Amino acid sequence: METVQSIKETRELIKSWRRNGYTIGLVPTMGFLHEGHKSLIKKASAENDKVVVSIFVNPIQFGPNEDLTSYPRDLEKDKITCDNAGADLIFNPQVSEMYSDNAVTSVTVDEITEGLCGAKRPIHFRGVCTVVSKLFNIVTPDRAYFGEKDSQQLAVIKRMVSDLNFDIDIVGCPIIREEDGLAKSSRNIYLSDEERKAATVLNKSLNSAKDALQNGERYASKLAHVISEKIDNEPLAKIDYIEIVDSVDLKPVCEITSSILVAIAIYIGKTRLIDNFTWNFK
Ligand code: AMP
Repeated sequence: METVQSIKETRELIKSWRRNGYTIGLVPTMGFLHEGHKSLIKKASAENDKVVVSIFVNPIQFGPNEDLTSYPRDLEKDKITCDNAGADLIFNPQVSEMYSDNAVTSVTVDEITEGLCGAKRPIHFRGVCTVVSKLFNIVTPDRAYFGEKDSQQLAVIKRMVSDLNFDIDIVGCPIIREEDGLAKSSRNIYLSDEERKAATVLNKSLNSAKDALQNGERYASKLAHVISEKIDNEPLAKIDYIEIVDSVDLKPVCEITSSILVAIAIYIGKTRLIDNFTWNFK
């Protein structure tokens, strides 16, 4: 496995793979890799001849008061994880390699980015769509792998690929969790021991919502109430949002008559964590 910082070198390698007729899978990440990322790399490795993992903490998707400078990094450990999971290349560019000072082009996806995390992080998805488009143009993958943990991101990327005619299959991968149900996240490292215990409330509250749905609840507001009651019982947790939306266009629903995405963002102390599940209406 190689680690490359330059776009030119990456393109040369990709060209040599293409000459041999290899298929290519891309796993875009911000590094500090865990089992969640590893599951994406393994799937990409099973479905493609060659796998590229990008590791790039993308500054333009962080708001001014967000954690860009403190975002955890450990490239040496990430290299071992990528190698073990079957990656062939890590693309690890510097910020200056990805963004020239005079760049004026960005990629904006409307509507579907307006609610959920987009409402709370106004520049976030423009940053994500811009960097993912650039990665798609640099790596030209056949398939790209994204986690369902970032459910809105996955929906936005699928929409962008469809709208802009990228010839790339977007593959969604299930959420990988800790034993106690907390979704794995690079940001879990910010939690103190006490906060780490409190963070289990995210998954617990979603499980209560699943129970309510199984017991016939069909009103989104009541479902949201089931979740908020659980969160409110945890003193270290503060609700950022609880949303019940259509699973494809992410528009809010009142009565549940189609497949829905139940998505939450919760502050545990200063750390903002997200979780979700999709419920298929039968
Ligand atoms: P990040 O490094 O946080 O930008 O994540 C890179 C990719 O890994 C994204 O597509 C995430 O959705 C995915 N991912 C992160 N955490 C998990 C997880 N716990 N389970 C599955 N996929 C994940």
